[in-house]
Parts: sequence; C-alpha cells; structure tokens
Amino acid sequence: NRQITVADLPDGALEPRHFALAEAPMPEPAEGEVLLRTILMSIDAANRSWMQGATYRDAVRAGDAMPTYALCEVIESRSDRLAPGDIVATESVWADYVTRPARLVLKQPEIRPLSHLMSVYGIAGKTAFHGLVNVGRPIAGETILVSAAAGSVGGYVGQIGKALGCRVVGIAGGAEKCAWVVDHLGFDACVDYRAPGLYKALRAACPNGVDVYFDNVGGETLETALAVMNERGRVVCCGAISQYDTATPTGPRNLPGLVVVKRLRMEGFIVMDFADRDATALRALQTWVAEGRIRVSEDIVEGLENAPGALIGLLAGDNRGKRMVRVGPD
Ligand code: NDP
Repeated sequence: NRQITVADLPDGALEPRHFALAEAPMPEPAEGEVLLRTILMSIDAANRSWMQGATYRDAVRAGDAMPTYALCEVIESRSDRLAPGDIVATESVWADYVTRPARLVLKQPEIRPLSHLMSVYGIAGKTAFHGLVNVGRPIAGETILVSAAAGSVGGYVGQIGKALGCRVVGIAGGAEKCAWVVDHLGFDACVDYRAPGLYKALRAACPNGVDVYFDNVGGETLETALAVMNERGRVVCCGAISQYDTATPTGPRNLPGLVVVKRLRMEGFIVMDFADRDATALRALQTWVAEGRIRVSEDIVEGLENAPGALIGLLAGDNRGKRMVRVGPD
C-alpha cells in the first residue's frame, strides 16, 4: 500500500520535494468501517489552498498524507450500509488503500465511465452549475465572463452559459488554449491574460460589457474584470487560484469602489452549500451532455506516483479540463 505525504509545507511555489512516497501498512477496517481501493483521485487547485492554512476544511500539515476527494471500490465491509464491489465517493488521501467509516462515504450511481463522476457529474460540473445558475443567475442574452476557462470548472461554466442562451467569453493562459476554448468548447471568444493589454482585449470581446463574471482566479485578473462589469453585474467568487501558489499575493485595488459605483453583487460559495439542489444540477447536466451541448473534457494522469506532478502542473496551467489521477482500474 503506497501513500504520498506532504514532506514539507511550501512557502512559495509547490515543488516535487514537498512530497514523499512511502510504503504504509495495509489498513484494516474496524467495526463500521470499509476498506477501499482507490480508483481515481481528483486533482484540484484547492489541494494547494489547503496547504496555506485552514479554509472550509482543516489545514494540511507537514507529515500528513495528502488529502483528496476520491472514487473507490469497496474491498471489505464491516458495515451493513455497503458491500464489496460498491463504488463510492469519499474524502480520502493519496494512497492505494484506505479505510473509512461507512457512514462518511457516498455510494455512487451506475455511471460509466467512472471518470464522469469526477468531471461533469462530479465536483467540477456541480460547482460550475451551482455557481453560475444559483449565484450568478444569468438571463438569456446576457454576457458571462469566466476565468480559468480551459480548466475543469471554467470549461463547464462556459458551456452551461451557452446552453442558457448567453454570450460567453473566457479568459485563459496562452493563444493556443484560448483557441481550444473557442473551437472545442464553443465559447464565443476567449482572451489570453498572459498577453499584454487584458483590459482592452476584454472590452473588445465583450462589446456589451459583462453581466456575470465567474471568478476562478482572483488577483489582477479579477481587478481587470471588475472594470468591464455592467451596472448591477454579479461577480461569482468561486476560487482564487492565482493566489494559492505564491509568496507574493496581489489583490484587486478597485474594491470596494467599483462595487459601490456599479452596484455589483459579489458573492462567494462552496459547492456543498447547494447539496440539496444536486439532483437538479445532475439532471440538467445529463440532458445537456446527451444533447451534445456540453462536451466532457477530462485530463487523466496515470499512476499514484505521478500525483505530485499532476498537482504542480495544474497550478502551472498544463491541464485541459478536469484533471484526475488514475490509481487503479475501474
Ligand atoms: P482547473 O482545472 O481550472 O485548473 C486550474 C487552472 O487555473 C489552470 O489550468 C490554469 O489555467 C489556471 N491558473 C493557474 N494559475 C493561474 C494564475 N496564477 N492566474 C490565473 N489562472 C491560473 O482547476 P479547478 O477546476 O480545480 O479549479 C478552478 C477554480 O475553482 C479554483 O480556484 C478552485 O479553487 C475553485 N473551486 C471552487 C469550488 C467551490 O466550491 N467554490 C469547488 C471546486 C473548485 P491557465 O493556463 O488558463 O492559466
């Protein structure tokens, strides 16, 4: 049973030396617990933010096994809630095998491939749906702007926005990624934030201004996006990936001024806040996928040992769509 721990907490950019791979004893389930074999681990920008201190969950400390959201198969059950062979989703760690209290794992529906439970029907799709529909509340014909548009959450935000009849503009790093966002994901336009002149480029791509800005990155991009918002626009604060992996964070300098003048509503959310509406989200996403309005984009890295590189790469923007690590077969 291999396990990856956080050897040392980063105070700047995350590097391979911050992780250690070791053999751990095969865990044995106690009464009420299940033994789980890891199949897929979700690689999220949030993994890095947990290393910065307590967020909506406890901080990760040096020596801890790296926490993750995972899809697993039940191998042994000491609970009547679950049986061997069941596929479950759970908070877990970077390891081949883990034990978990059966009451804390969620049996998954029969959906194949399993990776769709991680991407479009998992946290990425649900975060995009709830953030856009329940927080941003766009109306057909409005303009939606979304950052990290080639990423997992951002890619679904744009495609949902199109399905709702909006004009959708993305922000992503590099001309090639921007072309992919338009050609493959069907956005109306996409602006490269690494090229100079972001404000002018956003003005040109959003001739009617921006009604909903779905912010995945924070920092300077948020500052520039605020400047192109329309009056009574909504800013959906989903994450701040530009601030997670740096020793020198930057924040928008035009707050709260622009919020006042433009009567903006800026609202943060955590996907779990809307768990009672997950069934609605799932039905809508399944319909859009079946109709071909949403393309499922997944970025699967093979092998537990490659998880640190997968996370470091995500923070550098080398993923297209939902990044996950395959630890074992479906
Ligand atoms: P993504 O798949 O979107 O990958 C992250 C992307 O962020 C990279 O591909 C990269 O794309 C971009 N990025 C990296 N560094 C920077 C930077 N310095 N400035 C701007 N963009 C950067 O990751 P996730 O889908 O996991 O996460 C997207 C966001 O959603 C995160 O902020 C995350 O914390 C948040 N989130 C929030 C949830 C909630 O409940 N509120 C739930 C899940 C995720 P590029 O090449 O374009 O720079």
